[in-house]
Amino acid sequence: MLNRLSPQSPDKIIGLMQQFRADPRTDKIDLGVGVYRDAEGRTPVMRAVKAAEETLWRTQDSKGYVGIEGDPAFLDAIRTLVLGEAVPAGRVAAVATPGGTGAVRQALELVRLADRKARVFIPAPSWPNHAAIVNFLGLGEVAYRYYDAGAHALDISGLLADLETTGPGDVVILHGCCHNPTGAELTPADWAAIAEILGRTGALPLVDLAYLGFGAGLEADAAGLRLLAGALPEMLVSVSCSKNFGLYRERVGAVLALTPDETARELVRGNLSNLNRQNFAFPPDHGARVVTAILGNAELRADWAAELETMRSRIETLRRTLADRLRETSGSDRFAFLAGQKGLFSLIGATPDQVAAMRETHGVYVVGDGRINLAGLSETNIPKVAEAMLAAGL
Ligand code: PMP
Repeated sequence: MLNRLSPQSPDKIIGLMQQFRADPRTDKIDLGVGVYRDAEGRTPVMRAVKAAEETLWRTQDSKGYVGIEGDPAFLDAIRTLVLGEAVPAGRVAAVATPGGTGAVRQALELVRLADRKARVFIPAPSWPNHAAIVNFLGLGEVAYRYYDAGAHALDISGLLADLETTGPGDVVILHGCCHNPTGAELTPADWAAIAEILGRTGALPLVDLAYLGFGAGLEADAAGLRLLAGALPEMLVSVSCSKNFGLYRERVGAVLALTPDETARELVRGNLSNLNRQNFAFPPDHGARVVTAILGNAELRADWAAELETMRSRIETLRRTLADRLRETSGSDRFAFLAGQKGLFSLIGATPDQVAAMRETHGVYVVGDGRINLAGLSETNIPKVAEAMLAAGL
């Protein structure tokens, strides 16, 4: 039986991580994998997480199962963090999932339960797992214009024109903030224009929110999706707590489904619950409980928000420092876009050959599409990264 399987292509970023580990050069620089790093190159356990885990360890007296949908207190905390006061709680169905990937998967499985022929509009480019999951589930994949690679900027007129072609059987994936891989953000006016179009065409937005707090701040990063939530009858949000709580390996995430009313909410909740039961029964609990403890305690929450803000502003400083260095060494402004973009990632516009040259000659590891993780930079390695980029002909 198992010999009938066909080989799967390995994940490119995981392959790059392995290659980086095997590289003996001591001054190699990893701008590949999408995790936050501090000035020492570490991905730390956040202070509030440590404190909440300590209390949890002391007070938790059972590891018995929790509900299929996850802990209701976690779901309430995430709903409030993400949606704020934008919609009444009675319109939102929610389930906990294993990370943001689990949330995207459950959200798209929900779509498939509703309509096996649904088409899913995916920004070009996007996180590769979007298309991978859509295809795995047998849904239709349609790319919509998002990024103008030549201008290193959002292609808003292309985006709006493509979304005009959507209809009631369609889903539109949007990145809530910190677009992966481009770092090109939608402005509030862009979100309003998207809300107006989707309100007219009847397409369902699926907002993937994996970097809340990494762009312009916790409230500002949620503003776009809250605007959609206030304007539309239905919306799906896939939430990840991997980056903003630093809980990557604990697999903490949730699907929030905005519905027109409480009757619809119950129908959706029952379907999400059933999907959890089919796929893994009970979602992981430890990390979700840590998040709940942090968000429910004023002191822990303030400390978490402060540490997240430090991470956010570090990325902003690194963006500016790299852009400045490139301006000085190239004598041109062509890398100014790096400073204005948001979140962990930008596309530096490198061809696969240029990516290989940066790796081989300078030990600077960049994803094949030219995506860099800005958090892999530091005050000390920025000159070398700039030199590698210019030496590769960028
Ligand atoms: N969506 C996007 C856009 C992402 O970049 C990521 C993380 N790479 C995720 C979802 C999911 O993250 P996780 O499953 O680790 O929570």
